[in-house]
Amino acid sequence: MKNDLQRMIAEIESEVKYTRSYIGKDKLDPRVMEAMSKVSRDEFVPSDLKRLAYDNGPLPIGHGQTISQPYIVALMTDMLQLEPENIVLEIGTGSGYQSAVLSLLCKEVYTVEIVTELGKEVATRLKSLGYNNIKTHIGNGYDGWPEHAPYDAIIVTAAATHIPEPLIEQLKPGSRMAIPLGLPHMHQELMLVEKNDQGEINVNSILGVAFVPLVDERTANKDYGPLH
Ligand code: SAH
Repeated sequence: MKNDLQRMIAEIESEVKYTRSYIGKDKLDPRVMEAMSKVSRDEFVPSDLKRLAYDNGPLPIGHGQTISQPYIVALMTDMLQLEPENIVLEIGTGSGYQSAVLSLLCKEVYTVEIVTELGKEVATRLKSLGYNNIKTHIGNGYDGWPEHAPYDAIIVTAAATHIPEPLIEQLKPGSRMAIPLGLPHMHQELMLVEKNDQGEINVNSILGVAFVPLVDERTANKDYGPLH
């Protein structure tokens, strides 16, 4: 298991180097890599896929959803530049793996999942693994989680067609959001959204990615509208 984890870390490091011209660096923050090396990914994948838990790829977790690729988890975590006192919002809890990585780098993680069964499973899993600074919520992440806002960082782990307005509102000035944008099964880009101290928004594309869609039952099957 330890060897598998080391192999996964080495694969992330080499993919970071390989994508250096897109992501603008050839090494991620050592604190992020340390957190990646502390979370047992096999605890977050279905029992019949445990042998693949430390491969650098996404895996199905049921309900048509996936646990993200470790390289992407590390990259998105790095993009947030977390500090130990930070409060973070995650949209798309899924397996809880990304939440677990974040929880080692900040004070509190608030995470929202729309699929009730996944949300329930993950609450039990995170509790039994002792991740006590993660609070889970079942709901539509388009709305964020206003009760605990504003957040020092926001991470969206499903692809949205646009940046949801409530998430921009719930981001603290001087803070960052990582969010994949694009249509389902089409070209998507991982975006870094920065809100400066004056509250102005700056959006930069980091990398082409492939995420499951951020579902919004209010707009499902309707015109997706322009990307912005
Ligand atoms: N961060 C996860 C990746 C999960 S995949 C992990 O580490 O495993 C994306 C997740 O987003 C899925 O579980 C999906 O059900 C959830 N999701 C999709 N639309 C959502 C929405 N509107 N609000 C909250 N969660 C959503």
